[in-house]
Amino acid sequence: MEGSTFKWNAKYETGLAEVDVQHQGLVELINRLGTLRVCGGSAADVTAALDALADYAKYHFSTEDSLMQATGISPEHYEAHSRTHDLFLDQITRIVDEAQGDVIIAIDRLLRYLVKWLAFHILGQDKEMAVEIAALKRGTPPESARREAVDYVLRNTEVLFDAFNALFDDLDSSYAELRQSSEAQLKEAQRLAQLGSWELDLTNNHLQWSDEIYRIFEIDPEKFGASYEAFLNTVHPEDRESVDHVYQNSLMDHLPYEITHRLLMADGRIKYVHECSEHLYNPEGKPLRSIGTVQDVTLRIVAEKALRKSEERFRTVADYTYDWEYWRGPDNEFLYISPSCERITGYSASEFITDPGLLLKIIHPEDRDLVERHIRDEFDQEAAQLDFRIIRRDKKICWISHGSRPVYAKDGRFLGRRASNRDITDRKILEHELQRQAQFDYLTGLANRRYFIERGEEEIVRTSRYGRPMSLLMLDIDRFKEINDTHGHHAGDITLQMFAAHCQETLREIDIIGRVGGEEFAVILPETDGEVAYEVAERLCQSIANQTMTTETGAFIGLTVSIGLTTLVVGGEAYLDTLLRQADEALYKAKALGRNRVCTFSG
Ligand code: GH3
Ligand code: MG
Ligand code: MG
Repeated sequence: MEGSTFKWNAKYETGLAEVDVQHQGLVELINRLGTLRVCGGSAADVTAALDALADYAKYHFSTEDSLMQATGISPEHYEAHSRTHDLFLDQITRIVDEAQGDVIIAIDRLLRYLVKWLAFHILGQDKEMAVEIAALKRGTPPESARREAVDYVLRNTEVLFDAFNALFDDLDSSYAELRQSSEAQLKEAQRLAQLGSWELDLTNNHLQWSDEIYRIFEIDPEKFGASYEAFLNTVHPEDRESVDHVYQNSLMDHLPYEITHRLLMADGRIKYVHECSEHLYNPEGKPLRSIGTVQDVTLRIVAEKALRKSEERFRTVADYTYDWEYWRGPDNEFLYISPSCERITGYSASEFITDPGLLLKIIHPEDRDLVERHIRDEFDQEAAQLDFRIIRRDKKICWISHGSRPVYAKDGRFLGRRASNRDITDRKILEHELQRQAQFDYLTGLANRRYFIERGEEEIVRTSRYGRPMSLLMLDIDRFKEINDTHGHHAGDITLQMFAAHCQETLREIDIIGRVGGEEFAVILPETDGEVAYEVAERLCQSIANQTMTTETGAFIGLTVSIGLTTLVVGGEAYLDTLLRQADEALYKAKALGRNRVCTFSG
């Protein structure tokens, strides 16, 4: 705080350099007390300032004492002057004691006394002393010097009063200035913080409110009979008892208190205020005053209530979601998991929260790498999506469709990711079935024509890339029409199924078998040159011929097959179409040559 209580003025100078410097030191210490009073300071600050002042005064008085003795000032004068010094120290102790621990009262009284003392002492006694010392120094005999000093005081009464008045004017205005500027700052601070302060003098039940309290309570200062009871009347009737209770208890227990309570405004509005208060007691423990603050916290409480409500709503929505929702914080910790995780995984939300590794543990081993990579990568992405399998607590496999998005606070801070996990097991089973139906023949379970061509083309690309051999067989059951005609269509179907099963048993796992027509089949033999392919085809042809199929009616059906063979020329043209055509041509030849045989395509 700028400014001071007491301004030094050249008029106060005695002409004794050492004394004048020390007087200015005293003024500074007094001003420090003044500042503490106006701006507020802790009891420890005040005690320290008082101690410093008393110490400095003692030091100053001893300086003056030595000076008076050294210059041979008259004994009566010396004694009278010394007595004022002792009186000063006694007076200060008395004032502090009488304030009974009330720091504010103590400083106010001290300041009043100090300023008065400073004026009288410096302008009266010290000047008198200085005049006598100056005369002695000039060689004036002691008695004359004494008279000169007394004369000076008598002759200069008016001058002294002038200086005196000037000092009090100065003092009043600087004190007021200081108070005003500090009060203005305090008011502004209180307005900004919506915080007011109050002081209750318990000796006379006088309650003092800052402007901001009047504003918060919406009370006209003119109409308010400031007392504790008047304050209680402004408190919401339902909170009145508890507010009074808390205050009285705190006063009794010598403890500060805090409370948030409601105010009921004249028009029925409700405000929330937060109060903090503590009390001052005299050394016997008698309460002297209570001081406190009141802050309007309506906005905060309303916002908190709204937040709680919206959180409740969010929980209601989130807790009842059918999908398994969760939110992971920036450190990947779970901030929220919806209870539906139990329906989907068999594990409860708390199990996921207490074991952060559980999520990865239940992921299907074949999908674990994929998921781990996804979790690592998704933190750099906006929306991310992945389907994976988990193994539920009951060991069943469950397909999860996982989608996640980053969550940001209004100020842009990253708050983690929110994820939604849907059980898509039924959909996956259906998709799988549809895919199977689209790729495999319903009767024999072999690849259908379309899927055979798709896989055949993939195999050609692979074979060509590595310069490997590959052969293709085209099979057509001989005189199948007759089987249908003799045993019926159903028996024909069963025969087809048995034929397909026989081919699968005879051929290798890597061979691709497809049903490309009614009773026409094609086989791709990867890594197989013409010679080996011929042996395979021959073996198949013979084994079919050696088989008899038994119908449901017990009839034996003999069956033969004709096979056309072609082999991909290494380094030559590689089209599945071409190979199929060539094999067909060879098959046609086999039929023409009497069926139940293998023919190889030859250019
Ligand atoms: P070949 O090939 O030896 O010349 O005589 P084929 O009698 O086998 O020849 P064709 O192509 O004339 O007859 C094929 C027969 O296969 C005609 C059709 O009724 C029968 N067929 C085709 N698909 C099915 C099927 O899914 N089930 C049954 N039961 N018969 C089928
Ligand atoms: Mg046919
Ligand atoms: Mg046929």
